Amino acid sequence: MTPAPESAPDPAPDPAKKPALKPALTGLDPAALAELLASWGEPAFRAGQVLEWIWKKQVGSLEAMSNLPAALRRRLDGEFRLDALEHAHTQGSADTTRKFLFRLGDGRYVESVLIPANPALYGERSDRRTLCVSSQVGCAYGCRFCASGLAGFSRNLEPAEIAGQVLLAERLSGERVDNLVFMGMGEPFANFTRLMEAIRIITADWGLHLGARHLTISTSGLVPQIRQLADHPQQIRLAISLHGATDEVRDRIMPVNRRWNTADLFGALDYWNSRKKQHLTLEYILIEGVNDALEQARILAGHARRLRAKVNLIPYNTVEGLDWVRPSEERCRAFRDVLKDAGVSATLRLEKGHDIDAACGQLRLKQETEEGIVSAPARR
Ligand code: SAH
Ligand code: SF4
Repeated sequence: MTPAPESAPDPAPDPAKKPALKPALTGLDPAALAELLASWGEPAFRAGQVLEWIWKKQVGSLEAMSNLPAALRRRLDGEFRLDALEHAHTQGSADTTRKFLFRLGDGRYVESVLIPANPALYGERSDRRTLCVSSQVGCAYGCRFCASGLAGFSRNLEPAEIAGQVLLAERLSGERVDNLVFMGMGEPFANFTRLMEAIRIITADWGLHLGARHLTISTSGLVPQIRQLADHPQQIRLAISLHGATDEVRDRIMPVNRRWNTADLFGALDYWNSRKKQHLTLEYILIEGVNDALEQARILAGHARRLRAKVNLIPYNTVEGLDWVRPSEERCRAFRDVLKDAGVSATLRLEKGHDIDAACGQLRLKQETEEGIVSAPARR
């Protein structure tokens, strides 16, 4: 019997030949969508219909856009995917903090955290939901206490990948997000142009229609972008990750301070105050023996008073692979009391898990392996 002809071995996959991923429909703004649909010979009102299905009705498929002709749905489906990111996993339950893991088109991952309430930033309204959004995959700024900085920087997120985190969190939870904080993975100001484009989608009437006052950008202290946002017409809030009241302390834990020191930073914050009515928030992680001396609290109080800023004290959250220690509760309270006694509005979040401070700043680069999704190895 003649042996069956051996089939030719499969050629090794050529990464250059990988079919390009279709662009995300959520990446098109009204002008781009109108132009596209007009070029397909569609009537002008179609763009508005598509945008409404995406951002208002928040459907999960093109199929569900029932007032579009079937042929148009097929054509859109052939050329676009709906979302810029795909839901991979949810951790946590509806009444607590939920962490969503999203897979990006290139196989990388980002996380967003949905927090039921954030009294520290927005008063005691417990029915408010805050979403903590990532702006980059990883972070290049390498703060010594931060999980996101550990594995280094992969890439900037595109506007549709930033706004898409909000869209998917709302679609998956079936709840509206009331407040947004850019405190997830990455340094938002290092991705300024795309961040502002995402904010345009998030605040637009045709988009997610969230008020700019409900958005807070957190930065480790990128001075030029602080000044740029101060000049921006929208009333977006600003939080500064200060974590040290002097250059000596900041230099030790935040490499960014060697580029823009505290004098540069406070200069930019004075400029912010000269342009904006919203009060600044100073975030301050308490790390034992590093920045928790009561003398630091006194200096911090001086800065906060002059800047009319409130201070958000965050006891350090343990990060695997780092040996910093959270101070005792007594020390955290004593630090806060120095601020309060100086007339500064200061909050201290001691409970874990439910608040934004425990959930954000804890996001780490993820990668897919045969064992599943794991944290990326730390940088040497
Ligand atoms: N890059 C921006 C936003 C992301 S970090 C920034 O640095 O502000 C979001 C917040 O989490 C920052 O205030 C950051 O300092 C804080 N954070 C990082 N690591 C933390 C940790 N181990 N414990 C508590 N907060 C942490
Ligand atoms: Fe980057 Fe912010 Fe983490 Fe610093 S604290 S490494 S800037 S994400």
